[in-house]
Amino acid sequence: PISLKQEDPELFNLIEHEKWRQFSSLELIASENFTSLAVMEANGSILTNKYSEGLPGARYYGGNEYIDQIENLCKKRALEAFRLNSEEWGVNVQPYSGSTANFAALTGMLEPNSRIMGLDLPSGGHLTHGYQTDKKKISSSSIYFQSMPYQVDPVTGYVDYEKLETNTHLFRPKLIICGASAYPRDWDYKKLRAIADGHQSYLMADIAHISGLVASGVQNNPFEYCDVVTTTTHKTLRGPRAGLIFYRKVAGQAKADSLESKIDFAVFPSTQGGPHNNTIAAIAVALKQAATPEFVAYAKQVIANSKQLASCLISRGYRLTTDGSDNHLLLWDLKPIGITGSKMEKVCDMMGITLNKNSVVGDKSAVSPGGIRIGTSALTSRGFVEADFKVVADFLNEAVELAVEIQASVPGGSKLLKDFAVTAAESPKIQELRS
Ligand code: PLP
Repeated sequence: PISLKQEDPELFNLIEHEKWRQFSSLELIASENFTSLAVMEANGSILTNKYSEGLPGARYYGGNEYIDQIENLCKKRALEAFRLNSEEWGVNVQPYSGSTANFAALTGMLEPNSRIMGLDLPSGGHLTHGYQTDKKKISSSSIYFQSMPYQVDPVTGYVDYEKLETNTHLFRPKLIICGASAYPRDWDYKKLRAIADGHQSYLMADIAHISGLVASGVQNNPFEYCDVVTTTTHKTLRGPRAGLIFYRKVAGQAKADSLESKIDFAVFPSTQGGPHNNTIAAIAVALKQAATPEFVAYAKQVIANSKQLASCLISRGYRLTTDGSDNHLLLWDLKPIGITGSKMEKVCDMMGITLNKNSVVGDKSAVSPGGIRIGTSALTSRGFVEADFKVVADFLNEAVELAVEIQASVPGGSKLLKDFAVTAAESPKIQELRS
């Protein structure tokens, strides 16, 4: 066997650089995490060689004796990790990502042009929840289905459940989607169920961001009220990059009418081909880890760190959407300071702090969002506790002060912060930042 280093040194070096970037920077992107060595071993294993279209016991290819056992183990662990009974819930573990999981779930539950309501992207929702602008349908979930997004309250930043309910009377959706990519608060699934029941709508929760926290029982439980729950496996759940779709089983229902057969069929053959067996094995490892007391302690620490960071920033007079967080992420509204999210992201990049610009309540333009999203799950995996997040808050404070200073007093500073190609030679201030 020839190693990657021998076979392709150019690529090997790029991976080494990325490894160093991950190790040496402060990773605050809310959707990222560091998987364990065991997860990476399974993900990089010989399982990538195998085709296995179909489901365990019903494949279109031979040689799937062990692949069947791996997929069944993954399914069993998925139910166990979320404390689900196999009489009431089933799961499909084949989606390649969160986006394909969502599209397959919609394809299984709905007809073409069915009406859906999900949280709008500028309010923190995900593209795949029906995102469209005034001018254009952006996501396949708004191209193939009719979408009427709901929003957060422009003053409080909390989901406006009352307005959602009112709009369901106008739109009569077949599906309501809850869950988000940038929402710092927990969800009221009971209320959402009541709203959905008003029009016999399905209720689906996309818990991509918070699934590790849900598995640990430190967030409200969507399984109590939803028909379908989707998730990515690589965020707070700390697995490989993939998706899962959980569906509720109804006792006595004909198989053809069940969500189980509709969703399994929607994943394969409707929207995907052969499962990525290496990924499924790696998910199984992550789910085993997620069912341990150590993981529950991790999830609690993620939230404690997020609350710590929130209180440090608030005590310095900064504004956070909803004034805090219930989960692993914060939305920092930079409008009062007069710095855009992209400028702050740029300054942080130069300082070795990785985070992303994000729209926040009251933004006029989605192109230049007025805030940033900060998550605590990755650094918590590296052992950060509250005291460390005090230091992170100090660094962020330094970053924002430098951004303000460069914009205000460095000649051409505003342009410098916009221009991605800026070099250290162009400004002593930038040199100071980099150092
Ligand atoms: N759903 C939510 C809520 C997300 O935040 C994301 C990704 O960030 C996705 C779905 C899509 O996941 P993926 O990038 O794996 O397609």
